[in-house]
Amino acid sequence: MIAFHDVSKQYDSLVALADVSFEVADAEFVFLVGPTGAGKSTILKLVIREELPSSGKVFVDSLEVSSLPSSRIPHLRRQVGTIFQDFKLLPQRTVAENVAFPLEILGLPDREIDKTTKEILELVNLEHKANHFPSQLSGGESQRTAIARAMVMRPEIILADEPTGNLDARSAWEVMQLLGRLNNLGTTVIMATHNIDITSSLPHRKLELQKGRVVHDTKQKGSKQKNK
Ligand code: ADP
Repeated sequence: MIAFHDVSKQYDSLVALADVSFEVADAEFVFLVGPTGAGKSTILKLVIREELPSSGKVFVDSLEVSSLPSSRIPHLRRQVGTIFQDFKLLPQRTVAENVAFPLEILGLPDREIDKTTKEILELVNLEHKANHFPSQLSGGESQRTAIARAMVMRPEIILADEPTGNLDARSAWEVMQLLGRLNNLGTTVIMATHNIDITSSLPHRKLELQKGRVVHDTKQKGSKQKNK
């Protein structure tokens, strides 16, 4: 569960979020929509403690993220995978090495790293690209590699910030299918997006922001919800 309770965020005098409250249930899929500057990325940054709220509280399950001691932030970030518009892959590492990277940082044994990496590459249909470098991948393959790298930690939550922003329509749909599959496996997904083709074609909840406020939430109208 993710919960925002009366969260406001100011950057100097600029109000990025104003009194935002909402909850996202386990295994829900939510689109964050709204124009550039509405506060979508700020919401995602608050969930992973990349930013602190100016007031209000942010929860991930029973963790109050906004008052978490710094020593507990790595634990939080292992629970929450992140995906970005620009993929953020390590260019000198192969696909398999990019995906294995978070596990190496954890210091897991090589055999376990190899096994998990292989399983996740199969999940995203990229086994055949395991030894390619990011420069040899299409946009869609790059984003699938980034998703695999997020999934390798088996996070409960995936935060995606414009994950289809750099992709052609076909690759964008492949990425949406993959996020949908991960959601069906029980992963909570929050995705910030401008892509109206995607948000209007899929039944997921839409939380619409304007100027830092939630102006519409399709959940309030009793739209279709997934129950875990
Ligand atoms: P969105 O993701 O909807 O485009 P953001 O959350 O990135 O919106 O930004 C919300 C507002 O906060 C914008 O006006 C943006 O310029 C501002 N903002 C975001 N990050 C910072 C920052 N680090 N410093 C100052 N202003 C920021």
